[in-house]
Amino acid sequence: MQNQRSIAHAFTISGMGVHYGMRCTMHVQPAPPDSGIVFQRHDLPDKPRVAACVANVKSTLRCTEIGTESGSVFTIEHLMSALRGMEIDNCLITLDGPEVPIVDGSAAHFVTKLMQAGIVEQDVPRQVVRLTAPVWVSDGQRHVVALPSDRLQISFTFTNDKRHPLLSDQYADYIITPETYQEQIASARTLGWLAEVEALRKLGRLQGGSVDIAVVMDEERIYTQLRFPNELVRHKILDTIGDVALLGHLHAHIICCRSGHEMNARLGRAIWDAVAAGAATVSP
Ligand SMILES: [Zn+2]
Repeated sequence: MQNQRSIAHAFTISGMGVHYGMRCTMHVQPAPPDSGIVFQRHDLPDKPRVAACVANVKSTLRCTEIGTESGSVFTIEHLMSALRGMEIDNCLITLDGPEVPIVDGSAAHFVTKLMQAGIVEQDVPRQVVRLTAPVWVSDGQRHVVALPSDRLQISFTFTNDKRHPLLSDQYADYIITPETYQEQIASARTLGWLAEVEALRKLGRLQGGSVDIAVVMDEERIYTQLRFPNELVRHKILDTIGDVALLGHLHAHIICCRSGHEMNARLGRAIWDAVAAGAATVSP
């Protein structure tokens, strides 16, 4: 049995959101046990709160959006990944805009700030979601399978379906602990297509160069110096951690092939249905 965790001190991150191109200031604050991860839009009337949970996922079209009738928060996945990776259960995150800053396209800066803020154990046991049987989602050649396990492990196969000349099929597998998360996963950046990133830059919404917010590529070239030879599959694992964090603290071995946010959201709903049907449990 492990206790829940939060942070000791609040911290602030300001930056641009990559999909809406709007600057946003985000305050990440400690929160009491059993409150979970909650976002709050300070720029909207009545400052609506949105709990980061499967039931509030509204869209996974280009990023993970959670929301209620009162408002949405976009591109939460890298911050959620950092929180789950560092095993933080409770935080209140206020924003003055619609979207979490993209920073460098990875979760490394979030992890650094969480570590600087100090991670504190709280005096209440953590509720863990555990499977008693496999849960899976398949759609054509895309598959995500979650197997019962006593920890979080993710195995990911990325296939070079677009036949990019500089990419190859990539496979990676990690048992997710704060140590492996920090060292192997947090700094893996998202992929950005040159045309999209340049469009943002032309609108004057990017500070610094285009290659500072993603691994930027087009059909023939990669314009960014990679941090790992298999940075793309590591980022896919980072995204998967962020998406399953919407279930709370899940223990499972998740095996992914060609999947992304949409498949992860479907897996999340399937696991949540399994909890309701007694095929998964939530307990300390
Ligand atoms: Zn991502």
